[in-house]
Amino acid sequence: MTTAAIIVAAGRGSRAGGAIPKQWQPLNGRRVIDWTLAAFQKAGLDHIVLVLNPDDHAAWEEFENTDVILAKGGAERAASVLNGLSVLSGCDIDKVLIHDAARPCVSMELIARVLTALDNTTAAAPALPVTDALWTGAADQVTGTRDRSGLYGAQTPQGFSYEVIVAAHLDHPGGAADDVQVARDAGHAVAIVAGDPDNIKITRPEDFSRAARLLRNEMDIRLGNGYDVHRFGEGDHVVLCGVKIPHDKTLQGHSDADVGMHAVTDAIYGALAEGDIGRHFPPSDPQWKGAASEIFLRHAAELARARGFTISNVDCTLVCEYPKVGPHAANMQAVMAEILGIEADRVSIKATTSERLGFTGRSEGIASIATAALVKP
Ligand code: MG
Repeated sequence: MTTAAIIVAAGRGSRAGGAIPKQWQPLNGRRVIDWTLAAFQKAGLDHIVLVLNPDDHAAWEEFENTDVILAKGGAERAASVLNGLSVLSGCDIDKVLIHDAARPCVSMELIARVLTALDNTTAAAPALPVTDALWTGAADQVTGTRDRSGLYGAQTPQGFSYEVIVAAHLDHPGGAADDVQVARDAGHAVAIVAGDPDNIKITRPEDFSRAARLLRNEMDIRLGNGYDVHRFGEGDHVVLCGVKIPHDKTLQGHSDADVGMHAVTDAIYGALAEGDIGRHFPPSDPQWKGAASEIFLRHAAELARARGFTISNVDCTLVCEYPKVGPHAANMQAVMAEILGIEADRVSIKATTSERLGFTGRSEGIASIATAALVKP
């Protein structure tokens, strides 16, 4: 199944104000177009076509050597869409989504809903039922009311089977409000997919601040800390951050007593406000006796991912006089990164002594402290 998105960015959008078209105006540190493109890139479509106004020379240069396929805007929107569809010919596209560049708050969930709907139909588009009362008016006076039942506010991306929408556009006499009308005029049924109230179209100047608020809210950054201690007992090795190190003592605990991995695991649970290892793997449960701590860390990382978070980085400090951690730190980093499913340069393992003070200084045990940063983009 090959998918593509066509992002129409050729318009001049004078209603939104500003010296340049709305899709090129700044929004939360990027441009409107960058947010829109990023949403579709994240959604993992096979091809993305950007339809540009032929006069936007800087944009043509900017996107020339990128993964984005460029197409020329036409005299009206339908012509722009057809040009976008045409550059995809030969790409063997099954499903195509057509989206307005001026809807930068489009969510991955909405994109997925439209794509999924196309499994069972040749055309599907998001919309929201009209909930406000509808009036007619003239000269700032209400002149009548209209029945809102059965009325929807249309959104994009509108999704189609590629062959169907290409044929429909080629046959259309022009003047359609959107691609749904083009498909319907060609006799195709169009399914309504639940729209998203946040998927606003930047039309007027005040829409920029609303879009900025929505996009800011989306970024969720979490920090968590973890602290753990295990005491020494008789033995010949310790396991620290997943690495077995020969030593004249061992760490005691219910599991393998990997104090570093426990602190990192608790930091991730902490960032998710999900308690600690004890909540998820109760020490009272005999099945976790002697368990490899990797099970706990994997669980925490999977929980973070299931909640939509990426583990941005973890930082772990081991506090002990012996064994010396330095020679094993790179190995620990690699093992922890593998379990967490992140790059090794996002995992920091370091060690300190406590200047022979306290229980760590007297080599009665090892302590560990860790921080984790989680990001939901
Ligand atoms: Mg522990």
